[in-house]
Amino acid sequence: MAGSSVLIVGGGIIGSGLAWALAERGVADVTVVDLDLAGVYASSELNAGGVRATWWQPVNVAACRATLRFFAGRAAEFGFREAGYLWLYDDPALWATALEKRRMQNGAGLDVEALAPGEIAERFPVIDRGLEELVGATLSPHDGLVNPNAVRAFYRRAAEERGARFLNRHYAAGVETALVAGAAGARRRVAAVDVVEVAPGDPADDDGAVRGILTRHHVPPARAVGQHRIACDLVVNALGAWSPIFSAKVGVRDVTEPVRRQIALVDVHASDLPPRVRLAQLGMIVDPSGLYFHPEGPHVLAGYSIPEEAPGFDFRYDGDAFFEGEIWPRLAHRASAFERCRHVRGWAGLYAVTPDRSGIAGRVAGIANLYEAHSFTGRGVMQSYAIAHNMAALIATGRFDDVDLGPLARDRFDDPARWVPEALHI
Ligand SMILES: Cc1cc2nc3c(=O)[nH]c(=O)nc-3n(C[C@H](O)[C@H](O)[C@H](O)COP(=O)(O)OP(=O)(O)OC[C@H]3O[C@@H](n4cnc5c(N)ncnc54)[C@H](O)[C@@H]3O)c2cc1C
Repeated sequence: MAGSSVLIVGGGIIGSGLAWALAERGVADVTVVDLDLAGVYASSELNAGGVRATWWQPVNVAACRATLRFFAGRAAEFGFREAGYLWLYDDPALWATALEKRRMQNGAGLDVEALAPGEIAERFPVIDRGLEELVGATLSPHDGLVNPNAVRAFYRRAAEERGARFLNRHYAAGVETALVAGAAGARRRVAAVDVVEVAPGDPADDDGAVRGILTRHHVPPARAVGQHRIACDLVVNALGAWSPIFSAKVGVRDVTEPVRRQIALVDVHASDLPPRVRLAQLGMIVDPSGLYFHPEGPHVLAGYSIPEEAPGFDFRYDGDAFFEGEIWPRLAHRASAFERCRHVRGWAGLYAVTPDRSGIAGRVAGIANLYEAHSFTGRGVMQSYAIAHNMAALIATGRFDDVDLGPLARDRFDDPARWVPEALHI
């Protein structure tokens, strides 16, 4: 039986960030296990790269603001661009709420502007259709875009430089718990995690093998090359959309659901751009229909969350049907630049969705040495630094540091009054 003082299960941007933050604090013997550190199906490798502190819940504002400041300090390395978020509104009631929340956001130093309908096309000439529907827009200049893969790579590299171990192709398959006596009576703790080591795949079908395991939650015997029981003082569930599978192994019923989200890359004809439109300089634009888009290298990245999407570990990209049915009509409805545009390709990844659309971070009640940080819906990249830094502080000192993640404790779901309903999600 191998040992580790802290075992982080899941090496996405959250698990990698936490390994780094713990190692930075001098916590020795940190191990991260992941089935696939390449992250072919990890949300951390499949997201839109939008980062903003402009939320409606103070804890989400604070966590994202701290993370964006960290990104700004390494802007070149992370490809961080303070290009802004333009959020369009067509519903007077929502717009009134946005203006009210803007006071809280600007109290936190976000400098969010409120644009009247007439200013929108003036400041953003790309928005030249359906203007009569709009009642206003917020422009948050310090938000923007980042390269999430570069951020995750930094967390991992910096963690490894400080002694953390990352075990690739290690699938957490089981949990051994034990009762320990304490002053307050016997408590359950995780004694060890059972990990199946998975054979390196045949390049031709490795993708399928990883996908099979991540959708069926089981390693076929033919793929297993080893079984390890990793004893640990402390365990962190950082499994994103897969967190409920692990929680169930320790008898915790999770509220998180995996939900497919799709993204399309689109090409625009330069000759179709209205004269003042500089696509490459835009940040993120969010349409009232739920469509969002931003420049992505030579392309435009556009996403839309289908409201009826059923939960499930589904990675199928609907291809032209998604582009033609969901993306193109919304783009062309708002901007003539997209009247003629080309679908390049696209992909699907998972949001880890909670009932109130805020993440889960803290200790797991009832299990003495189990912690968790997961279910950040569409917000995991932009909260990653604050989550990592403050979870590391909690683990090392018993207290959060600069951002109080207390509101994100899982037990809030026992009492609807403590939910953290985040409405400004896409
Ligand atoms: C389409 C899309 C767009 C998004 N856009 C944005 C955005 O613009 N901005 C933003 O901030 N966020 C965005 N997000 C959300 C963001 O990507 C996630 O919140 C974040 O990546 C979650 O990171 P994670 O580390 O918790 O999970 P993941 O990155 O999913 O990592 C979980 C890891 O667990 C591993 N794993 C699973 N089961 C096991 C097991 N039993 N044993 C070992 N390993 C296992 C997987 O291999 C994976 O590597 C988007 C997500 C999607 C899908």
